[in-house]
Amino acid sequence: MNHFQPRRGVLHAEDVPLPALAQAWGTPLFVYSTATLTRHWKVLQASLRGLDHTVCYAVKANSNLAVLSLFARLGSGFDIVSAGELYRVLKAGGDPRRVVFSGVGKRDDELAFALDAGVGTINVESGPELLRLAAVARRLQVRAPIAFRVNPDVDPKTHPYIATGLRDSKFGVTVGEARRLYAQAVTDPHLDVRGIACHIGSQITTLRPFVDAVGRVRRLAEELARAGVRLRHLDVGGGLGVTYHDEAPPSPAQYGAAIKKALAGWEGEVHLEPGRVLVGNAGVLLTRVLYVKRHGKKTFVVVDAAMNDLVRPAFYDAWHDVVPVVASARGARAVTCDVVGPVCESSDFLARGRRLVPPAEGDLLCVRTAGAYGFAMSSNYNSRPRAAEVLVDGGEAGLARARETYPDLVRGEAARPRRRRFQPRRR
Ligand SMILES: *Cc1c(COP(=O)(O)O)cnc(C)c1O
Repeated sequence: MNHFQPRRGVLHAEDVPLPALAQAWGTPLFVYSTATLTRHWKVLQASLRGLDHTVCYAVKANSNLAVLSLFARLGSGFDIVSAGELYRVLKAGGDPRRVVFSGVGKRDDELAFALDAGVGTINVESGPELLRLAAVARRLQVRAPIAFRVNPDVDPKTHPYIATGLRDSKFGVTVGEARRLYAQAVTDPHLDVRGIACHIGSQITTLRPFVDAVGRVRRLAEELARAGVRLRHLDVGGGLGVTYHDEAPPSPAQYGAAIKKALAGWEGEVHLEPGRVLVGNAGVLLTRVLYVKRHGKKTFVVVDAAMNDLVRPAFYDAWHDVVPVVASARGARAVTCDVVGPVCESSDFLARGRRLVPPAEGDLLCVRTAGAYGFAMSSNYNSRPRAAEVLVDGGEAGLARARETYPDLVRGEAARPRRRRFQPRRR
């Protein structure tokens, strides 16, 4: 379900026609729907009713302040993977006590920032990180609230680049190591052992891997309780998939029911870290056709959005639906097209081998389900200013991020950098 639907042949975002947004703010343009974001958050929330739970939105999926602020006002917590994301959450009015800090490589200054801000949980992913965190907490004279991210060794059957809970993955600690680390952590006065966490991957489209992972983590938590280490919360991670093409992922209601069943009788709190499922189809990328070029049998639709705006097709060979914003004339003949951007890489495509009625120059195309890992993974490659982002609410829309300018591209650079000497002068 999403609020990007055609009305009289023209795609709208809620009540706003997409061509009006392209007219006002140019292209490429990311457009997000308040109603869709709100609905997804509430549906997931409702699916877990009965469990003492906190939804911690995974900021990296879409970290625009307007999106974070919307979730904060709904009462959401946040899952962060860097201090930069914590900065954004605080700017957006998020409650630091509902923040979970994940990631395999947290720096000292990031740990200090998180402790200083009073984040709810730091998910520790290794023995060396535990030592480092304890030292930072001691220096700041605070107790660090921690959970260990356990790697449950479950195959999520997703793209290998987004599987994170397999035995040989860099993420988390093994069950065996977790036993040892919990025993170590409870003896440290600067550590407050709160919970246990897992996150097995992303774009997962069946329930089984979630149920297996939660089961394993729960059994470990119960074993720890018998050994005297009582945990207050169990964090089931994120990873629920969305429909890009022909996937049929479980609905949030089915997911919630499965989590509830896997945790029946669990007395503690439950934390969730959903990203993609909350924002994926709540966003689209609007792009304008620059040229239609043919060689031999191939038709290339060259558009003004590229892999620097949406890297998922190049990065994961991901599928995004690409549809005309204004419906093609009835009976117009579709041909097989590649929709490509201007970047100088052969991997710079948004869609390949698609049946499309060849658009005209200047037509608008809509790349669907671009709300997650879209703008957030964009770059300035080829010195392309990053796209603008717009948040629609009913019949209104606001600029959530201005399009970058050429001066933005060179901010912080120096054509002739002022030099400092790093080697002693020879006498
Ligand atoms: C990326 C990430 C998530 C969110 O994953 P989605 O697939 O977007 O739901 C949750 N938790 C952690 C630790 C992550 O790294």
